[in-house]
Amino acid sequence: MDTGEQLYSIDLKGLQAGVHRMEFPIETSFFKEFGENQIIGADLKADVTLEKTGLWLRLGLKIAGEVVVECDRCLGDLKMPVAVDEVISVTFSGAARDPEEDQMGDDVIELDRSETTLDMSQIFYDYVCLSLPIQKVHPDGACDPIMMEKMKDILR
Ligand SMILES: [Zn+2]
Repeated sequence: MDTGEQLYSIDLKGLQAGVHRMEFPIETSFFKEFGENQIIGADLKADVTLEKTGLWLRLGLKIAGEVVVECDRCLGDLKMPVAVDEVISVTFSGAARDPEEDQMGDDVIELDRSETTLDMSQIFYDYVCLSLPIQKVHPDGACDPIMMEKMKDILR
């Protein structure tokens, strides 16, 4: 892995306290690098709002756009909208927590205190994959008719 990791890394050491906004493109190559074969195309944009207060980081994560997956029924390309909107708390192991910052319901990521960068790529990957439904099929009647005929022949 070369440029991919850096592109999605946030330098935690140099980060000033306050609110930071960052945008990241997530394209087909991103999923290829992860060895993902379920997602065969992607045109997504991640919008990250990073709030740093002391030893605490809060990530507002929005990912929007669409991915292309294989339809479970006709095996044709299926475009699926992606809309992720999550808040993630990032804590550092061993760091004392401010109870007021300890919001219930947020997802929590714990980093080792020696970490100086936060790699967003794993986070993007996980949240996009999690947002997809288990069953991925075209709406009724929208499957590839030629493939559907072929399937019928096979099943006959
Ligand atoms: Zn289909």
